Amino acid sequence: MTYDAVAIGEFLIDFTPGGISPAGNPLFERNAGGAPVNVLAALARLSKRTAFIGKVGNDPFGHFLQDTLRKEGIDDKGLVFTDRAHTTMAFVHLGEGGERSFHFCRQPGADEALAFEEIDSSLLGSAKVFHFGSVSMTSEPSRSATLGAVREAKERGAWITFDPNWRPALWQDNLHAKLTMEEGLKEADVVKVSEEELFFLTGKSELEAGAEELLERFPVKLLLVTLGAEGSYYRTRKTGGRAASYPVVAVDTTAAGDGFMGAFIGTMLENGLPAWEWSDGELRKALAYANAGGALATTRLGAIASLASHEEIEELVKG
Ligand code: ADP
Repeated sequence: MTYDAVAIGEFLIDFTPGGISPAGNPLFERNAGGAPVNVLAALARLSKRTAFIGKVGNDPFGHFLQDTLRKEGIDDKGLVFTDRAHTTMAFVHLGEGGERSFHFCRQPGADEALAFEEIDSSLLGSAKVFHFGSVSMTSEPSRSATLGAVREAKERGAWITFDPNWRPALWQDNLHAKLTMEEGLKEADVVKVSEEELFFLTGKSELEAGAEELLERFPVKLLLVTLGAEGSYYRTRKTGGRAASYPVVAVDTTAAGDGFMGAFIGTMLENGLPAWEWSDGELRKALAYANAGGALATTRLGAIASLASHEEIEELVKG
């Protein structure tokens, strides 16, 4: 069996406040969380064959997460269950402007307990694209598992895509965060960051200067920078440019970056050639498609629930 994309990383339950019960108690919405799975779900909506590698507790929450993968059409054969740790949870705090912050319950959580030896190695040799983030690199053994999997998938021919997905609350300190993300940057072919992450990683507040520095310091072949409502920017060793996004009524930006990344990886799989070898025209077209994937994800509430189909993306791109 071959897969268009395999991803490794954190996988958890988000609890978000959601109204009041008839008896007057606060209600919480329960959803699957974790950027790598969101990216796979975005790809599955584009009819790509995907599989996930991660670890959950052998508890009702872990089973809920397995059901989520199955419902989304993501192969769950790389999902490991454990009796020795609970499924990771996060409580979501909604700020006044609608921005979300997360309070994690990990003691440690099952997703952090994934060891390299537990990974189904057939998944590392069967992926055209292998995707990872840095959240699963915050602690051991999931850090070594993530890096080991990425290195093996790369050796066995996969294109490596990386989204650091930096969330300050997750890290002991900024130095630890930076050093860990740098380990990811050393392995990746395609990297997607937000402007905030680019500034964090390079100290450069100007987009072009930050992109230049990142490509100078790391063997990254294509850098993508998401710019919210402004769209996105790309930079390879030969060329660079921007693509505007689409005017939409944004209600919840959760998973916009994952919708963007999933759609971009989708175009790379369709094209067949690695994106860092494309012409400017091809890159701009792929960014337009990815921007539409991101923009559509902002028009609906939730993470996986907000991700768009190929038809919806095409319709937005064509206007
Ligand atoms: P992240 O910070 O998670 O990487 P962004 O919030 O920048 O992601 O969103 C990813 C992509 O989604 C952007 O590059 C853009 O193309 C699209 N997008 C996000 N917010 C909007 C918006 N308000 N209007 C239109 N497009 C948007």
